[in-house]
Parts: sequence; structure tokens; C-alpha cells
Amino acid sequence: MNYDVVVAGAGPAGISCAVALVRRDPSLRHRILVLDRAAFPREKPCGGGLTGHAEEAMTALGLELTVPSVPSPRAEVRFWDWRREVTLGRPVRIIRRGDFDASLVAQARDLGIEVRERAALQDFRVEGDGVDIGVGEGGTERIRARVLVGADGVGSRVRKHLNGESDGTPIRLFRLELPAKGAWRSDAMLYDFSPMTDGLRGYLWVFPVADDWINVGLMHDPGAPLSGGDLEALLRRHLDRLGITLPRAARGWPAFGYHPSAPIGGPHLVTVGDAAGIDALTGEGIAVGMEQAIVAADAILRAFDQNDFAFRGYARAVRQATVGRELALDRWLARLLYRGGWKRWLSLVLLDERMLELYAARVSGTLVLADHKRELVWALLRHLGSPGRTARLTRASASAS
Ligand SMILES: Cc1cc2nc3c(=O)[nH]c(=O)nc-3n(C[C@H](O)[C@H](O)[C@H](O)COP(=O)(O)OP(=O)(O)OC[C@H]3O[C@@H](n4cnc5c(N)ncnc54)[C@H](O)[C@@H]3O)c2cc1C
Repeated sequence: MNYDVVVAGAGPAGISCAVALVRRDPSLRHRILVLDRAAFPREKPCGGGLTGHAEEAMTALGLELTVPSVPSPRAEVRFWDWRREVTLGRPVRIIRRGDFDASLVAQARDLGIEVRERAALQDFRVEGDGVDIGVGEGGTERIRARVLVGADGVGSRVRKHLNGESDGTPIRLFRLELPAKGAWRSDAMLYDFSPMTDGLRGYLWVFPVADDWINVGLMHDPGAPLSGGDLEALLRRHLDRLGITLPRAARGWPAFGYHPSAPIGGPHLVTVGDAAGIDALTGEGIAVGMEQAIVAADAILRAFDQNDFAFRGYARAVRQATVGRELALDRWLARLLYRGGWKRWLSLVLLDERMLELYAARVSGTLVLADHKRELVWALLRHLGSPGRTARLTRASASAS
């Protein structure tokens, strides 16, 4: 069987890539195949926050939010007794990934795109003018494509092929959904940095979800080694502090942060979504995957136009796009906050009004933070000139913990 494009993975990134291709060139509709090893709806551990430019990306793709969602109009940032609440320029919508991803698959099918479930990309070989792809158990079914899109998530085979297995240590994310039962009733998204005092290099979240449930979890940067058991204990202890009891053990999942110079494309191959890397500061990747997918679709169409499938310019195109500029900036901020003097940088977010406003606008997708780099740098410099702020934060954690 021959296709122009095979997309491995029918998560938000893979579906967005297929949809973007068909929107731009409807004649591709019957020449694209999307494969997924799972059957939808499938489980996907996720906070479910459609943050950043998700709404814009979905509008650009002509995709609709057809599943229940909870609009969260506010974000609260905490560090022990410090609390800062900020109104989001537009509410972040919290969805359940099982439903959401299945709804995207359905919309792609409505456009005439073939999505095959329970069909895993087993192996592939770049040869001649395309890719020879093995599908299913043992790779017995062989398919040929001019382009293989790796949208196969964090364990991506395409990513491993391009990276030569040099993935490094992943970000870790833990997550559990539970009934609110009065323990926590708020329509705000909570980002709690208190566990940083105990060694976490990330944050704990509590997000509202439909039917009066909450979605709790934490993300941890790999700069500081903490075991899965340590992270689970941190999550449990700090949720207790917020009056939330974990009903069962929480599990952790890995994710790789985006690196601007990572090889995300190669001859006849491109990667999108988690396969290409997520936001290293927040651990978010839904909007990121969709935005990368749009850039990838443009690169694929250019490859067909020019009959040049080397994808030499793809990594640069992602770097120069809004999504790449935001990811690079967040990577830099993550290094400051999680690998530098964290109290200094956290006190900047908590105590500098403008900084929090800017980041809230970034989370709700009402601005492109990378367009405000100069303002950010000024805020950093201003902050370095006020060491008293960091001391206030140190006192806050000492008295509360
Ligand atoms: C605990 C946790 C919380 C998170 N919270 C948020 C959040 O609140 N907001 C946010 O924006 N992001 C969040 N993220 C990140 C977000 O979940 C991912 O970035 C997003 O799912 C990426 O989409 P994707 O399409 O690249 O990958 P996925 O959604 O993982 O989809 C990949 C697909 O590929 C399929 N697949 C895998 N291997 C193969 C194969 N060999 N052959 C065929 N198919 C294959 C899988 O079945 C899957 O359907 C969170 C992540 C975690 C782990």
C-alpha cells in the first residue's frame, strides 16, 4: 500500500498535522494514513489544560471543542502562605483527554482522513524516495510513504531514530483525577510552588474538571534527581496541606523538553508534539503539538512542491514560528527557575506584578511572551537589584514549613 504521508500517532499533534495537510490541500485526503496503536477513546494522563495558543491553533485547523470542558477564568500562584491570583485574559478550558482526543479523531474522519486504530508503527526504514513502514505485530504489514510523521508521543520511534537514542533524562509528571467532595472547590487553576522547599523543581497543580472533579498533579524538572517514590510522597504531603487526600497511589510519566537544536526532522521524516519536545517550564504540550503540527504540514507541502524531502529547514521553521520562540524562552526560564537560584526567580514571579500578568497572559494565550523579551529582561534586572524580595520569600517558607 502506498501513501504520500503516514502519520504515526493520532493524539492532538498527529491529528492536527493530518488535518492541516488536508485543509491546505484537500486532494491529499485519500493519500494520508494516520495510525495509532491504541483504540479511541484511550487513556492519556494529562492535566487537560488547553493553555497557550490552543484556541487559535484549533481555529486555524478548523477543529472544534465538542466535548465538555470547564472554563477556568483565574489562575492562582502559591508559595506557602503567599497567594497571588490573576485574572486570565481568556479562560483556560480544562478537558478530559480521553474524550477530547477521541473527538479530534472523529473530526479528522469527518474530513475523509483514514485513521486506523490498534495499528502500531512497528519499524521503519528510510530507503529510496520514501519510507518502508512495518505496521502491527511483527511489522508483517508493509506500507510505503514519501513522508513519515512521528507523532507517536514521548516514546516515539521516529524521535529515537533521529536522536540516536540520546534523549537524556526526562521531565516527570504525576497526575490523578478525583472527586472534589468539598475538599477543593474553586474555578481557578492553582499552581503551587511550595514543594520546591522540599526539593521539587517544578510545581503542583489543582485544576477543576467537569462533574465536580479535580485534576491534581505535579511536574518535576530532571535537573534535580528525585525518585518516583519521593515525588509521589511530595504530591501526597502537599495535597494534604491543601486539604486534598490522594485516594490511591499516583503514577509518574516522562516527557522530554523541547531543545531548539534537537534533530526534529530528517530525510522523509518529521516529528511533532511530544516526539519533538514539550514546554520545559510548564510541562504543557497540547497547544504546542498542534502549533508544531501546522508548521510541519507547511514543511511537508513544500517538500512535495519542491520534490525535496530532506526537511533541512524544518527545525529552523519551528524555531522561528511563535511556538518555537515560546518554547525556547520557556526553556531558558526553566533553567533559571529550576536549575538556578530558585528562590530568586520564584520571588520575581510572586512579587513582581507585571511579571505575573505577563505569564498569565501567556498561559491564557492572549499574548506571545517571546514578543516581550525586552520587558522580561528588564524585570529580571530590576529584580536582581532588589535582593530584599528573595529574603521575604525565604522568610515565608521558613515560617510556614
Ligand atoms: C501528567 C501529565 C499532565 C499534563 N498536563 C498537560 C496540560 O494540562 N496541558 C497541556 O497542554 N499538556 C499537558 N501535558 C502534556 C500533554 O499531555 C502532551 O504534550 C500531549 O499529549 C502531546 O500530544 P501528542 O499528540 O504529541 O502525544 P500523545 O497525546 O501522547 O499521542 C501520541 C499517540 O501516539 C500513539 N502511539 C505511540 N506509539 C505508537 C506507535 N508505535 N505506533 C502508533 N501509534 C503510537 C499513542 O497511542 C498516542 O495516541 C501533560 C502530560 C502529562 C504526562
